[in-house]
Amino acid sequence: MEVSIKELANKYNTKTVYIKNALRSLDISCDNDTFTADEDVLELIKDAVEESKKNNVIHVTPNSTPREIAQVLDVSQSEIQKLLISKFKVMATLTTALKDDVVERIFEHYEFKVEWGAPAQPVAAKPKKHPTKASAKQIRPAIVTVMGHVDHGKTSLLDFIRKADIASGEHGGITQHIGAYQVHTPQGIITFLDTPGHEAFTAMRARGAKVTDIAILVVSADDGIMPQTIEAIHHAQNAEVPIIVAVNKIDKPGANPDKVLAQLTEHGLIPEVYGGQTITCNVSAKTGEGIPELLEMICLQAEVLQLEAEPKGEFEAAIIEAKLDKGRGPVATLIIENGTLKVGDSLAVNAAFGKVKAMLDYTGKPIKEAAPATPVAVLGFNTVPSAGSTALRYKNEKIAREFAEKFGIAAKAKEHNNKNKAIHLKDLRNKLATQGLKELKLIVKADVDGSLEAVNGLLEKLDNDEVVVKVIHSGVGSIMESDILLASAAEAICVGFNTRTEPNAKQEAEKLSIEIRHYKIIYELIEDIEAAVKGMLAPKFEEEAQGTLEVRVVFNLSRHGIVAGSYVQDGKITRDSSVRIKRNREIIFDGKVASLKHLRNDVKEVKVGMECGVQLEDFTDFKEGDIFEVYQMIQIN
Ligand code: GDP
Repeated sequence: MEVSIKELANKYNTKTVYIKNALRSLDISCDNDTFTADEDVLELIKDAVEESKKNNVIHVTPNSTPREIAQVLDVSQSEIQKLLISKFKVMATLTTALKDDVVERIFEHYEFKVEWGAPAQPVAAKPKKHPTKASAKQIRPAIVTVMGHVDHGKTSLLDFIRKADIASGEHGGITQHIGAYQVHTPQGIITFLDTPGHEAFTAMRARGAKVTDIAILVVSADDGIMPQTIEAIHHAQNAEVPIIVAVNKIDKPGANPDKVLAQLTEHGLIPEVYGGQTITCNVSAKTGEGIPELLEMICLQAEVLQLEAEPKGEFEAAIIEAKLDKGRGPVATLIIENGTLKVGDSLAVNAAFGKVKAMLDYTGKPIKEAAPATPVAVLGFNTVPSAGSTALRYKNEKIAREFAEKFGIAAKAKEHNNKNKAIHLKDLRNKLATQGLKELKLIVKADVDGSLEAVNGLLEKLDNDEVVVKVIHSGVGSIMESDILLASAAEAICVGFNTRTEPNAKQEAEKLSIEIRHYKIIYELIEDIEAAVKGMLAPKFEEEAQGTLEVRVVFNLSRHGIVAGSYVQDGKITRDSSVRIKRNREIIFDGKVASLKHLRNDVKEVKVGMECGVQLEDFTDFKEGDIFEVYQMIQIN
């Protein structure tokens, strides 16, 4: 029988949050408001509701996002975001994995206690996911990104599709570049993102926007699969976005589409003609051959995916492009993910806010309303919002502004959040315990194909009972910015074998706190990953020079022992330093500082140009003229 959460909450005279909690604890899936359950299951739900009401306990998975918490608590996403910023001073996007203590405090705020971990015993007969009621959700157009190797025809394909649609006369007129456009096909509407390439796709994903439903992989029929084709496959697969392959340039004399199909099988995409699941279409972005069939396939795939949104639901949109226009001020293109946007609505996107002054569709036509999956250029923001972030609607401009301002103040916390999310080899064990991490995802780059194969082959064998090692992308060449973005989106670590990191990738990695490890010896690489998987990665130390001291007088203090009265010639010495003693150019001792004094007082540090009294652990035989080379061991992994 079909049951609604609200009805059940009324029946049991309780809040919906308890019903949802009971469903989670019993592992009953529920779409929107309804689910299927028989009498026995209803009994179980009733018991679970009583149990959690008694203790005020809510089942929560570790590292929940604000979006998930809003769902659990049955409150709006903006309410959770506001709470995070104004009360907890934590800046988070809707998809940021929150620290568990923050999650606990949110639930505390609503007077619930958190119970961590997997739900309790699943119900024997698990009710099936039930399609939602037609009332709230409606089918929406698919949002498509085009990817592939450079020069294989991504831009040409996007241009051809756009022009063909305009030529059909339906929208007669010029298209504006707003970052996305829609086409009308006999099977339905499709939204194309107009910034082709997996880099843009992953950059958006790394910032939290998961707007793409289907990826079109363009492969030139004369070139076949190339390195960026493989990269694109990995990026789409990692995002779990279905791929449709467009074998392009079939008009060219040297074209060999069949060869491309055979190559695809080597990369895990088995075309339908080979008995697999991957849809492929032979097309020409020059003559237009095969393009209607490609559009038809996209619509078919969209149907299979059952893409839905609630036009009347809570508004949420992803910023896909934003710029400062000389005449019009900040202009941002939004793809609406849920709800309907109207002129006059008040929005906030992180630290940017505004009232929608005007909206333009992709043809440049002003519109008053925009439904889910529609791209619209919005005018009225106070500043340019950043691409990849989420726009939410607020009651009025004042509240939107308040939200944005608080977000700005809390912006520093973002770094912290990023750091919290990033995976580092040395604390893999902790993450395993607290985040239920089961996979160590790696991106491997190597100098040549041979070494790449060898590294990948060995890495595959490293799984143990707790952790699966998964190479989500590998390739020949240096570590690039797109690798870092993929690592950030997928929570992976970058490993370079006999290769280097591009400077801009290094910067991005620092910003996003992505770990990059370089190796020159294959067994060191394998040993490190293996040790990390076993949670035993021994810290590695490196020496850092701190300063030089000269011993000028040796004091023999009856109460305190022998002290080297020294002068700091350069740098400094600290209470935690180590010292190497050089006498007549020979090293006669190496050990740690035991005490450090300046004018009889114990001090933490003495700097260049000052005098101090030094005692070392296990050494007292100082002589005037001894040189102290002062250093510290710092951990580098
Ligand atoms: P992108 O780098 O993947 O965006 O590739 P472009 O769309 O810029 O195309 C690269 C080159 O291939 C251009 O010179 C296009 O004119 C050409 N091209 C693209 N598609 C086709 C096609 O189907 N047939 C032929 N003959 N040329 C094509």
